Amino acid sequence: MSTTTHKYPDVKNYIAGTFIRNGHKSLEVFSPLDGKVISTVPLSDAADLNAAVQSAQKAFEGWSSIPVKERVQVFYRYKTLMEKHLKDLAKIVHEENGKTMDEAVAEVEKSIELTEFACSIPQLIAGELLEVSRGVECRVEHKPVGIVASIAPFNFPHMVPHWTIPNALALGNCMILKPSEQVPVSSNRIAEMLKDAGLPDGVFNVINGDREMVEAICDHPEIDAVSFVGSTKVAKIVYRRATSHLKRCLALGGAKNHLIVFPDAHPEMTAGNVTASMAGCAGQRCMAASAMVAVGPADDIINKICVEARKIVPGINLGSVISGAAKERIERYITEAEKAGAKVLVDGRNWKVEGFEGGYYVGPTVIDFVKPGMASAKEEVFGPVLAIMRVSSLEEALKIENDSEYGNAASVFTQSGAVARQVMDKASAGMIGVNIGVPVPREPFSFGGWNESKFGVGDITGKSSIEFWTQLRKTSVKWNPEARTNWMS
Ligand code: NAD
Repeated sequence: MSTTTHKYPDVKNYIAGTFIRNGHKSLEVFSPLDGKVISTVPLSDAADLNAAVQSAQKAFEGWSSIPVKERVQVFYRYKTLMEKHLKDLAKIVHEENGKTMDEAVAEVEKSIELTEFACSIPQLIAGELLEVSRGVECRVEHKPVGIVASIAPFNFPHMVPHWTIPNALALGNCMILKPSEQVPVSSNRIAEMLKDAGLPDGVFNVINGDREMVEAICDHPEIDAVSFVGSTKVAKIVYRRATSHLKRCLALGGAKNHLIVFPDAHPEMTAGNVTASMAGCAGQRCMAASAMVAVGPADDIINKICVEARKIVPGINLGSVISGAAKERIERYITEAEKAGAKVLVDGRNWKVEGFEGGYYVGPTVIDFVKPGMASAKEEVFGPVLAIMRVSSLEEALKIENDSEYGNAASVFTQSGAVARQVMDKASAGMIGVNIGVPVPREPFSFGGWNESKFGVGDITGKSSIEFWTQLRKTSVKWNPEARTNWMS
């Protein structure tokens, strides 16, 4: 296998602090910007996973016994390294995922923010201690779970791994990351930089692969916890399989996010926010607005949304979608909606970007008069497509939102506090926005949806993640013989 013809070296596994690549089946890695092969990725086998688990086990005793204030020093250094190499890291994301360079920079900046949060973990986990009887103290400490795995999707090659890496490691766990085989290049840079920041070998490992490797991770007897981010279909498989082996599991799935727009909404702000939410990262965000529910007269705001959408041009300020298959799927949703009677106001089908003819581009698409039963209204399209449904009351809008099987995000655009309050109370979603199109909670607030957008207890980031990555140790202590008054002893 040659490394010379590709833009990036062959992706490798990272085990015990060493990059390893040998005799595996492999896949080509394409840049969706132009369809060219930029690297290759190994499809690892059970022996590779065993080696990674053994390396993590070997490192665990040392790493978990280092005081947390010392462990986070690695992440202070790592954060500085990411800041220094921001543009290079973003370039990898841009090329392997297809999002714009600006979006890729924002993605790496978010990884930096996530790492910053991990640096505050010592302050957050300072334990509880109470004299529970005379002379008897009880104290509570957060202890690591052990060997943990993190399985990632294609849409944020850098940020999603950072939802888990800094917190899980700062809390004393050792990790095996399984990146998406579609965007595996970033993971090797992450490993390299963690090593440069001083992370001991074996604490962080990377295993590449596809479905087979995910299944092997779920089944591996020495892996204690599995976090997963991806589609709902696979989240269910992973959650069932990992928990059937009595592992702790948190599996984030897909989404269908609703934006409920009222006639009193600020027109320019609403149009700008809705369009950015729908088209940002080519609609391949689990927080993307893909369904807008317009309550009452909405022609003015919809016209403004169309004006904004036409300013977004593939190859200029809009990236590609991940693959030819994704482009076909997205365009099929548009065509089906049109055939079913919806009106395509802005049509992003059949885009070609000059000089990037091999790339996979879909332009922003606005479809009006979509009915709640249509596929584009219910299913995750995962492309820059906004399906607009028109209703006449808040109750109808909430019913559409509540009927969705997903529950990642929902937003309301209005100037009325009373209306906003009702959506905040009644929407069936984990993350709510008021006049905000992409209501991602920033640190220290946690990220996670409801319903079929997440399986498992707690959220994947922020304070909530501390519970997932740790177990509580409760210790009762008595030293003085005169402290006899104790109901148990
Ligand atoms: P995906 O489910 O296809 O893949 C995710 C991971 O699972 C990859 O590492 C892949 O190798 C593995 N995988 C794929 N098929 C598998 C199978 N049958 N069995 C076991 N493992 C399998 O997801 P994707 O296409 O890479 O990412 C897009 C999806 O991720 C969207 O649905 C998006 O909404 C979702 N997502 C959700 C969140 C969230 O926070 N809820 C965040 C990012 C992405």
